[in-house]
Amino acid sequence: MPSSLQDEYIKKESLYGAKNYSPLSVVLNKGEGAYLWDVDGNKYLDMVSAYSAVSHGHSHPKLIEVIHEQSKKLSITSRAFYTEPFADFLEKLSNLSGFESVLTMNTGAEAVETAIKAARRWGYFSKGIPEDKAEIIVADGNFHGRTTTIVSFSTDDAYKKGFGPFTPGFDAANFCGSCECDSIEKCLSINTFEKKINENTCAILVEPIQGEAGIRVPREGWLKELRALCTEKNILLILDEIQSGLGRTGKLFAYEHENIKPDGLILGKALGGALLPISAFLSSKEIMNHFKPGSHGSTFGGNPLASKVASKALDLLFEEKLIENSKTMGDYFLSKLKDIDSKIIKEVRGKGLWIGMELNNAEVSAKNLCMMLLNEGLLCKETHETVIRFAPPLMIGKKDIDWALNKITKVITSIK
Ligand SMILES: *Cc1c(COP(=O)(O)O)cnc(C)c1O
Repeated sequence: MPSSLQDEYIKKESLYGAKNYSPLSVVLNKGEGAYLWDVDGNKYLDMVSAYSAVSHGHSHPKLIEVIHEQSKKLSITSRAFYTEPFADFLEKLSNLSGFESVLTMNTGAEAVETAIKAARRWGYFSKGIPEDKAEIIVADGNFHGRTTTIVSFSTDDAYKKGFGPFTPGFDAANFCGSCECDSIEKCLSINTFEKKINENTCAILVEPIQGEAGIRVPREGWLKELRALCTEKNILLILDEIQSGLGRTGKLFAYEHENIKPDGLILGKALGGALLPISAFLSSKEIMNHFKPGSHGSTFGGNPLASKVASKALDLLFEEKLIENSKTMGDYFLSKLKDIDSKIIKEVRGKGLWIGMELNNAEVSAKNLCMMLLNEGLLCKETHETVIRFAPPLMIGKKDIDWALNKITKVITSIK
């Protein structure tokens, strides 16, 4: 039960704020590493990480130092001028990712919009699709953000009901795992993508693992087959790694698990080191060079402050071995969660420190379970009614994972 102090803030937020979220009843005011504190001083372990935006941990001292120093020097210039931090960041991200060209924005949704624009221009100017006819194929259950164009191709009513008319030019095929194929040969999901391709298709846009849909992990080989299909049909494969990228799955990018390379890559969330919003679309020069001065932009995109923080955030991924930690801690966490013997658990799945636990809905709702875990000092978030996700900051240590496992086991086995 929230204290009267917390109650006051909860009431204020619901009185003056739009109700487009339904937060758990806890009012936070401090974060450090993998921990968060509420206004009464109670301590919690963070298993949400702001939907994977907090990979480095809360208030990383080295990132705080960077933000402090750079903000004293130069923060915002707009892209009317060149700046050192921006140039350095572009070079770093390009070298690290192997993509020739980088376009920065602020939020994930803006980077997805950028990818859509890039794909369409490539479709018209490189592939020769007739004007206004370009089509992009997405996957069912997708989550790519909240703009009107992006919700146009969502397959989830909650995201789009009442927001039409929608942007045309999109079609949804089956994400792997959303259809019942019993063998690779019969894989319906690749078939539905293939069937939807026509001469006006410019791109396939998917998440390598679907986050908001409930950490849906496709079978091994699926992404590779999608890559082959795109190459064969001369269409771009664009991956939204806003949530799966930058170490979350135990590799720098989730597509590395399949040894492929997409034509376009979308990053966001953890790129800002859990301090600032910064996102990016990455591709070859051939694709990116269809953007000309004046054709696209963002006032804050690539500002010196965010660029400097993002550069340091990228360095720290390696200096602090966050990607390796995601793999070893993730493997350990996943195997231990799978060991929990309870009839309320339907499935535990994931990669790296990105784990979804699907519940048998009849027994308990994911939201109720989150509430019970909150009382034990664990901050978790459900996705849809039946899945709880566990996505702690990538710097989390084994002691904290063991502590969490202990609490999760206790709560789950207490439900008869
Ligand atoms: C969070 C997310 C987005 C949207 O990012 P915002 O910063 O909230 O606009 C897009 N795609 C995926 C896969 C995400 O997880």
